[in-house]
Amino acid sequence: MPAPEKTAAEALATPVQFIKGVGPQRAELLEKLGLRTARDLVFFFPRDYQDLTELRAVAQLEEGMVVRMRGAVVEVDQRTSQNGNTVLGVLVRCGNGHVRLLWFNQPYMRQRFTVGQEILLTGRPKLNGMMWEIAHPALQWIETEEEWKGKLLPVYPLTEGLSQGQIRKIVEGVVNAYTEILDEVFPDEYRSAHDLAGIGQAVSQVHFPLDRASLQHARRRLVYQELLVLQLALALKRQQQRERRQAPALEATAKIDLRIRRLFPFELTAGQRQVIADVAADMARPHPMNRLLQGEVGSGKTVVAVYALLLSVAHRHQAALMAPTEILARQHADTLAGLLAASQVRWGLLTGGLTPGERKETLRRVAAGELDLVIGTQAILQNDVEFARLGLVVIDEQHKFGVRQRARLRQAGLDPHYLVMTATPIPRTVAMTVFGDLDVSTLRDGPPGRQPVNTYLAKADQRDQWWEFFAKKLREGRQGYVIVPLVEESVEVEAANLQQAFESLANGPLEAFRLGLLHGRMAPAEKEAAMASFRDGRTQVLVATTVVEVGVDVPNATLMTIEAGERFGLAQLHQMRGRVGRGAQAGFCCVFAEPAGDDSRRRLEAFVGTTDGFKLAEIDFEIRGPGDLLGTRQHGLPPLRIADLAKDGALLEEARRGAQELVALDPGLTRPEHARLQRMVLNRYGRVLELGDVG
Ligand code: ADP
Ligand code: MG
Repeated sequence: MPAPEKTAAEALATPVQFIKGVGPQRAELLEKLGLRTARDLVFFFPRDYQDLTELRAVAQLEEGMVVRMRGAVVEVDQRTSQNGNTVLGVLVRCGNGHVRLLWFNQPYMRQRFTVGQEILLTGRPKLNGMMWEIAHPALQWIETEEEWKGKLLPVYPLTEGLSQGQIRKIVEGVVNAYTEILDEVFPDEYRSAHDLAGIGQAVSQVHFPLDRASLQHARRRLVYQELLVLQLALALKRQQQRERRQAPALEATAKIDLRIRRLFPFELTAGQRQVIADVAADMARPHPMNRLLQGEVGSGKTVVAVYALLLSVAHRHQAALMAPTEILARQHADTLAGLLAASQVRWGLLTGGLTPGERKETLRRVAAGELDLVIGTQAILQNDVEFARLGLVVIDEQHKFGVRQRARLRQAGLDPHYLVMTATPIPRTVAMTVFGDLDVSTLRDGPPGRQPVNTYLAKADQRDQWWEFFAKKLREGRQGYVIVPLVEESVEVEAANLQQAFESLANGPLEAFRLGLLHGRMAPAEKEAAMASFRDGRTQVLVATTVVEVGVDVPNATLMTIEAGERFGLAQLHQMRGRVGRGAQAGFCCVFAEPAGDDSRRRLEAFVGTTDGFKLAEIDFEIRGPGDLLGTRQHGLPPLRIADLAKDGALLEEARRGAQELVALDPGLTRPEHARLQRMVLNRYGRVLELGDVG
């Protein structure tokens, strides 16, 4: 218990071992859950609740509705049918009626039941004759009779040797003893303006809520706080990048602007003009641009990149364009070579495929300032690459790299401007967190005259029909892709699979056409030759792995075949489809798939149902659910403890606005009333975001 003379911070730092009901042995178990101090326990939030407030009796059941029931196990019985399927039946007495719970092909479930055990179950009942049955219900085990008071009980993450009842007691003790002394980070007016419960109230109600409403209010406060702290950290990061770092001011004067625009063989779309205006405004400032361009596939992001690159070069600063694959780097180089044929811009390619001699010479020219433009892969990021006067870095199709990996291409003196382009539309909530330190521009619509890609989901027995259609289009002069997924982890097997697919097409339905092969393990020169041949139309059909997933742009290719579509994620499918329908001709995409389970069926249905990448991103996010939140963790940020980006989108928006207002008002959060918030931000994010000397 906190002695009165201790400060709140000292009291909260009490090691768990000295907390009532813990002791050295349990302290070790708690340590496994990452719980070392009283504070850790206070902020150890339940992962779920046992809701004992709305339990149903058997007489109240209705088909099709989700219900919660409590009961005791009466009988457990498992059968195996002739074809090897198992059915586990668990008879449960609920009050004076019975329900039967069923599990199909989950024999391991059996050992989780003993007769007499009390359980809480949630599921959708169905009447089978006289008996109510619930297939695959969600289960919770009840520990002690005294908990039966008709309320919401917290469910905590556990570890071997520690029961739910024990951890509840420990947390209850700590919450009772310490919530009174928790520091409130929010000034009173702020709390009332944002409808936030006080910290003590919020903590005690999130652990042991009186009712749903009280839990919601408590959760709101804690989620808001967590998201606000994150958004403040990102806002500070943005501000630091903007204000404290210096970059060359590269203004798009009327003359430069005209000179660049004249190079494009088409009218820019309204979207492209807007994004170019955003980019040009950023680059005109003497601080680094940090902008994310989020764009639909085929919306014409490359044009924006080229504009920015040439703007830098026009000011005699070097510029670098980084692509995720060698094929894409090469494609960008070809595009630029075409546009710059009549100009004096000196450019070079820097990829893993160079010979040591070529690489050395390229590096020399980069360092000497003899190259204006460098196009390449990750190879550009290596330590031995030194630029003479780098003005801009464009990172194309880089949705996988987040906050931490970005800030690598620094140089002495001035920083370059950064433009990051994502391969895939990302859900708004994710963009606001993972890319929350960037300014965001969005390109939704492609150039006029584009038609949506016709998409079909097909079964094996429709193959003949598809290949007939495919052949007909090839005869009309179009080109097409056939994508075969990586089935095994082994590259040899992958190559063999692909070879097999290739041969069965070449000796079968596509016999009359020129087929090419492309996969990740080919030597760079081979890949390049395969791609060039397809681009020129010498190859009519490219049979490939997902190496062509992102970015590849061959407008005459209008046919896409995806094999084993159930193996791909929604974003990947959308990317692959994005390879066709990039010109005036309509695109056709056929996915052969054997949906494996509900999620895969939902994904495929969504894919066929819309070509809107932003919509698909939201659906994908929904299907994946919490837990796999395109991980903040994967992007180098610590995991969120209570907020759930899939559910808390509205609160995230609110917290983001709150953070922006706070930072506008008090840039370093240096005012005394913000001191605690500032400390919290630095504790949690100072290091990962390199916030360093805030305030
Ligand atoms: P993505 O956004 O997927 O990277 P690209 O930049 O590769 O898209 O552009 C897709 C195709 O659209 C390319 O063939 C490109 O030449 C063409 N394109 C881009 N902008 C325009 C435009 N304003 N008018 C006509 N075609 C355009
Ligand atoms: Mg692209």
